[in-house]
Amino acid sequence: MSNIIMHIDVNSAFLSWTAAYEKQIGIERDIRQVPAVIGGNEENRHGIVLAKSMPAKKFNIQTGESLMEARQKCPNLLVIPPNYRLYVRASKALREYLNTFTPDVEAFSIDECFIKFTDLNKSQSLKLAHKIKENVHEYFGYTVNIGISTNKLLAKMAGDFEKPDKCHTCFPEEIKDKMWPLPVEDLFMVGRRTKSKLNKLGIYTIRDLANADHKLISALLKSHGRLIYAYANGLDASTFKSPSPIKSVGNSSTLKFDVEDYETAHAIILSLVEMTSWRLREAKMMCKVVSISIKDKDFGYISRQYKLPYFTDCTKDIYINICRIFDKHWDKRPIRQLGVSVSDLEEAKFQQMSIFKDRNTLNNEKLDKVIDSIREKYGDTAIVRGVFANSELSPLLGGYPDDEYIGMSSIL
Ligand SMILES: [Mg+2]
Repeated sequence: MSNIIMHIDVNSAFLSWTAAYEKQIGIERDIRQVPAVIGGNEENRHGIVLAKSMPAKKFNIQTGESLMEARQKCPNLLVIPPNYRLYVRASKALREYLNTFTPDVEAFSIDECFIKFTDLNKSQSLKLAHKIKENVHEYFGYTVNIGISTNKLLAKMAGDFEKPDKCHTCFPEEIKDKMWPLPVEDLFMVGRRTKSKLNKLGIYTIRDLANADHKLISALLKSHGRLIYAYANGLDASTFKSPSPIKSVGNSSTLKFDVEDYETAHAIILSLVEMTSWRLREAKMMCKVVSISIKDKDFGYISRQYKLPYFTDCTKDIYINICRIFDKHWDKRPIRQLGVSVSDLEEAKFQQMSIFKDRNTLNNEKLDKVIDSIREKYGDTAIVRGVFANSELSPLLGGYPDDEYIGMSSIL
């Protein structure tokens, strides 16, 4: 019996999670049944479509296009702002459920993960995959795709064969029939630029790549070429990474304009700290070290940190201390990028009441809890700090935490 690897992928994750959540709290509509998208801020013209419903798809609305374009295709389009808190929660809940089957669950992105079994044969694995798929639907109210094979690459390819709500296998003996006929750009890690390079060599399908001259691919595309050549042949030597405890949490943002005054810089720091401190609280951790990094418009870079005399997860506390180091170290050169992070983490449950914490801090911690719960329920921008009320600045910066998903780096 060899290892069985499954790739679990939530179908239209942001939209499905939102729909399932709305149903849970008793909202009557089902956004999956109407033309709807999840998309960033419509007022700010940079908003894009992050996920779409099937009816929206019929209007030819594409993930990644601007909300303006999408609205032109479908004037009645329902646009729902993203709620990253909800997604992180849903993603965790799914992995916790999968953990009831096996301890080997590896997050690949916010809506994809791999699981490993060592005690199943092939036919048992397909049966189990169907059971998991049906259970997820029943317990959580959304659909997933499950791909099954003996390594991660093949499991991921199988998961993409046909969507939504499907289980597929792609065992090594099935590669020729199931994977090789696909266009080469369907192979994991073959992007648009690689596709056009391969097409110029007359390579159009995964079969063409698998049977191409290894030396030629290697010379043309170097290590990336060797990787996709192995993938085309179904070979993937990657191992299962066990989750390691987080050592730091941070968010940074490249700014749309150069920042030249303290007030604006502080507001941006606050928006970054809002996201960072929330992620810290979500992880049930507290920090002792706070850091700031500043990149100026001439690409000068500094990073400074400060060690607090106590552990904290409080937004205001972290914000004030980061502003203090910022004020001390900024040389007033126009800023292009700001980053904040916290480290020296400890689990929140080990925290005693600290004698260093005054009543103000304790009140601020309570306030954080209230704000977190409001945002979870009504969305990230349901409640924003006063400084952002009449401002062009975004009240939260950083998006969802890519760095917590090991596989996001594109290597399996
Ligand atoms: Mg997905």
